[in-house]
Amino acid sequence: MMLFYAILGFFFMKADNQPDPAAFPLQRTEAEWRALLTPEQYRIMRQHGTEPPFCSPFADMPGNGIFACRGCGTPLFSSDDKYNSGTGWPSFTRPIDKQALGTTIDRRHGMVRTEVHCAVCGSHMGHVFPDGPEPTGLRYCINSACLVFTELENPKAHENGLHQ
Ligand SMILES: [Zn+2]
Repeated sequence: MMLFYAILGFFFMKADNQPDPAAFPLQRTEAEWRALLTPEQYRIMRQHGTEPPFCSPFADMPGNGIFACRGCGTPLFSSDDKYNSGTGWPSFTRPIDKQALGTTIDRRHGMVRTEVHCAVCGSHMGHVFPDGPEPTGLRYCINSACLVFTELENPKAHENGLHQ
């Protein structure tokens, strides 16, 4: 009986954690993903991994700019919304566009967290927590391995009309 519940739980967990991979606008084969990403990036982005804290190249702000999804290039975050949370992971108060991110309930590791992924290619990004600063009170805790930074002269999202 315990085994039955364990198996049942496994399937529910899968359903809970995994958005339908076929539903994302951008589709790549596993071989294409492995060719595109380093093994570490693949582990984090495609297998729901987490990088160690305090390894982010973005810890010291590289400048003003846009952080895009490494999997598909979709702009996800602005340096305008980045802040130092002290956690050791890049932290943002909001995405550039709410539609660019999807969320699922993550019950792994004995916690209930809100997982964040790219809405275009489905790659795992990190988690969002309700303990961030103003103006949103949210903390988007994102793996640096999932992001590609592009420096811009004027990344201010509101001035570019990016916030929706
Ligand atoms: Zn993406």
